[in-house]
Amino acid sequence: MDRRNFIRSSLSAAVAVSFPGTRALAASLLHTSTTIPNNIDAITSDGAEITLQKSAVQDLSDSLKGKLLLPGSPAYDSARWLLKQEYDKYPALIVQPTGSADVQNAVNFARDNSLLLAVKCGGHSASGKSSCDKGLQIDLSQLRNTRVDRGAKTARVAGGSLLGELDHEAMSHGLVTTAGSVSHTGVGGLTLGGGFGRLGRRFGMTIDNVLEMDVITPDGKLRRVNANNDPDLYWALRGGGGNFGVVTSFLFQLHEMQRDIVTGFIGYPLSEAKQIIEFFAEHSEKIPDEMNISASIGGRLGREPGVGISFVWSGDPSKADKHIEPLRKAGTVAFERIRTMDYVAVQRSGDTDDTRAFTGYMKSGFVNALTSKLINNVVDNFEPHPERATRFSFGQLGGAIARVDNADTAFSHRDASFNLMSFVSWKSDSEREEHVKYIKSHWSNVEPFSTGFYVNDDYDQSQELINKTYRENLPRLLKIKKKFDPTNLFRLNANIQAM
Ligand SMILES: Cc1cc2nc3c(=O)[nH]c(=O)nc-3n(C[C@H](O)[C@H](O)[C@H](O)COP(=O)(O)OP(=O)(O)OC[C@H]3O[C@@H](n4cnc5c(N)ncnc54)[C@H](O)[C@@H]3O)c2cc1C
Repeated sequence: MDRRNFIRSSLSAAVAVSFPGTRALAASLLHTSTTIPNNIDAITSDGAEITLQKSAVQDLSDSLKGKLLLPGSPAYDSARWLLKQEYDKYPALIVQPTGSADVQNAVNFARDNSLLLAVKCGGHSASGKSSCDKGLQIDLSQLRNTRVDRGAKTARVAGGSLLGELDHEAMSHGLVTTAGSVSHTGVGGLTLGGGFGRLGRRFGMTIDNVLEMDVITPDGKLRRVNANNDPDLYWALRGGGGNFGVVTSFLFQLHEMQRDIVTGFIGYPLSEAKQIIEFFAEHSEKIPDEMNISASIGGRLGREPGVGISFVWSGDPSKADKHIEPLRKAGTVAFERIRTMDYVAVQRSGDTDDTRAFTGYMKSGFVNALTSKLINNVVDNFEPHPERATRFSFGQLGGAIARVDNADTAFSHRDASFNLMSFVSWKSDSEREEHVKYIKSHWSNVEPFSTGFYVNDDYDQSQELINKTYRENLPRLLKIKKKFDPTNLFRLNANIQAM
C-alpha cells in the first residue's frame, strides 16, 4: 500500500506548517495517534493466522479522522461490547469511523489484507457476528445522527444510529416510521434484515420505508443506492442483511401520526392457553392495520407462567375501546394493564426487560397460519420449570407488510402471517445444556410448520436453513452477492453463499 495515499490531508498538514497555532487545529481534524506495536496477530476471513506489520497499521491509523482502537486502548472494550453477554470477542483492530471516508479506508484495509471483517451498529446481533476474534471490527457508534426534513417527510439517519434517536427526532415533527420495539437496537442491523415494529402493519416493514442508502461496497466505493441508482443493490440491501457492504446513511420515508397511542397487555391463566391462542389466530385476521397484537405463553424467572395478549392501537385513541373489548372476552382475565402513552415512551418501554436481550437460547420461524395442530404442538409440549424462563411468542404480520410481494425486496416472507419465537433463559449456566435441549425439542414440533426464519434472529442456524430462508429470492441474491462481494468479505451475517 502506498503510504503517501494515507498521509493526513495535505491541507491540514500545510496549514499546520504555515501558521502558528494551527498545528492544534490540524491535530483536531484528525485523531491523536495510537501507539502501534511492531506486529499484530490477526486472522483472515478464511481463518488463517497472519501478522500485520506496524507500518501498514500505522497507515490505516493515519488515514482515519475517527479512531483506530487496539487491545488495551481506553475505548477498546466498549467498542467491542455486544448486548448479549455470551459474546466476548477480541478483534485485532477496531475502526471507529466518523464518516464514509473512514469506512472506505477500513473496508479497503480489510479487503487488501483479506482480514475477517465485522460491522457493528447497535450491537444487538443474535449471533454475535457484529464483532469477531482477531479480525477487524468497524464500530459505527460514532456515526449517529438523525435529520428530519419536515416538508419532505423524510429522515436522513447515519448508519450507526440507534432506533430511539430516529423515533425521538421524527416524533418531534409529528412523524414516525416503523422501528423496532427496543430503543437501543441499531438502525443498521434492524433495517438491513427487514425491521418489524409496533407500526409495521400500518406503515410496512422498516425496509419498506427506505428510500435511499449510502453504502460502501467491498470494492471501497461509496454508492448512493436507490430505486434508480444500483437498483439491484437497493433491492438486495432491503432484507439481505449486512451481506453487501457498510451502510453509512439511510433515508427513511416518514408518516404523520399523533403522539398518543393506546397500549396494553391482558393476561389469562396458562390453563386457557389453547383457547387464547386459537382466539388470537382467528381474531388477528379481522383487525385493522392500526391494531397490532401479539400473543405469548410463558413468563420470567420466578414468576408464574401464563398466556397473554399484548397490543398497540396507533389510531385515534378515542376509538381504541372497540378493539380492546374482544380481547377481554377471549378468556378469564387474570391481569390487565392498558394505558394511553406517548409513542416515544412506548418505544422505550421494553428497553430493560425485553427477553431477547438476555443470555439464553432462541429459535424462531415464520408460519403462514396458526393451525390447531400447530397450537396443540406448542401448548402440549410447553413445560414450565422453576430454574428457567421460557417464552413462546406469536408476533403478527399482515397489513401493509403483506401488501408488498415476496420478490419486491430481498425479504421473502411477506406471505407469513406470524413470526414465532421461542426463547429460553436460565438461572445458572451450569444447566445451560439441559434447557437448550428442552427448547430444541420443543421447537422440533414447530419447525415443520415454518417457512424459514427472520435473518435478524440468526442464532446458530445452518447454511442450509439460511439458504432456505431466502426462498425464491436466493438466486437473485447470489448473483448480486457475486457481483459486489466476490470474495465474501462481508460474511459475518446470515451469509448469502452457494452450497
Ligand atoms: C432486545 C432486542 C429487541 C429486538 N427487537 C426487534 C424488533 O422489535 N424488531 C425487529 O425487527 N428486530 C428486533 N430485534 C432483532 C434485531 O433486528 C437484530 O438483532 C439486529 O441485528 C440488531 O441490529 P443492531 O444494529 O443493533 O445489531 P449489530 O449487532 O450491531 O449488527 C447486526 C448485524 O447487522 C449488520 N449491520 C449493522 N449495521 C450495519 C450497517 N450500518 N451497514 C451494514 N451492516 C450493518 C452486520 O452484519 C451486523 O453483524 C431485537 C433484538 C434484540 C436483542
